[in-house]
Amino acid sequence: MSIKENLEEIRKAIGAHVQLVAVSKTKPVSAIEEAYATGQRVFGENRIQEMAEKAELLPKDIEWHMIGHVQDNKIKYMAPFVSLVHGMDKPKRLKALNKEAAKVDRVIDCLVQIHIAKEDSKFGFDFDEARNLFEQNLEEKYPNIRVRGLMGMATFTDDQEQVRGEFRALADFFKEMQSQSFSKSYFDILSMGMSGDYKIALAEGSNMVRIGSSIFGARN
Ligand SMILES: *Cc1c(COP(=O)(O)O)cnc(C)c1O
Repeated sequence: MSIKENLEEIRKAIGAHVQLVAVSKTKPVSAIEEAYATGQRVFGENRIQEMAEKAELLPKDIEWHMIGHVQDNKIKYMAPFVSLVHGMDKPKRLKALNKEAAKVDRVIDCLVQIHIAKEDSKFGFDFDEARNLFEQNLEEKYPNIRVRGLMGMATFTDDQEQVRGEFRALADFFKEMQSQSFSKSYFDILSMGMSGDYKIALAEGSNMVRIGSSIFGARN
């Protein structure tokens, strides 16, 4: 199937209220152009320099999402243009993003990454660490970033009930944080679900999915 057909099928499956991030990491600019021609405007990359190089070559109305692990010393390369940073996995990462956003006089949207997988390799806050973070006055502490919600990755496993349980825990935590008095009106994004598990994520309440291989084909 073509990129266009894949996108049409996925858009039908996810519905209009869910934001689709087309994950174009490792894929050439021509593949992004093909998706762009179908109306896709939101693309996700996991390496800052690769994203910056592609952004340079592509139309300026693309919204670029950084979905990968963020290295503080590379933030400056995306600060001028990135539209959402998914991987805020430590307090010092928020501080670093805030600092670079201030330098370019922007307020940059980001998501706090929560560690929900039963794997050591995935980054993120645990629930208690995140609770502590949200109890702080983040707007005052970091005026150049806006925490728009949460992001999480489930364990890479065939056990669908495990994946469902992890997404459900994240969705419950998201609702809990939204109901807190310190919650802001713009705390509204729950980024969970990839090619292999987005249908489960949507059933559990995701409103933003990050899909790569089901659109662009397998990566090398
Ligand atoms: C690569 C990646 C995706 C997309 O993965 P697919 O399985 O190709 O859909 C989603 N989220 C993150 C954080 C990724 O690194």
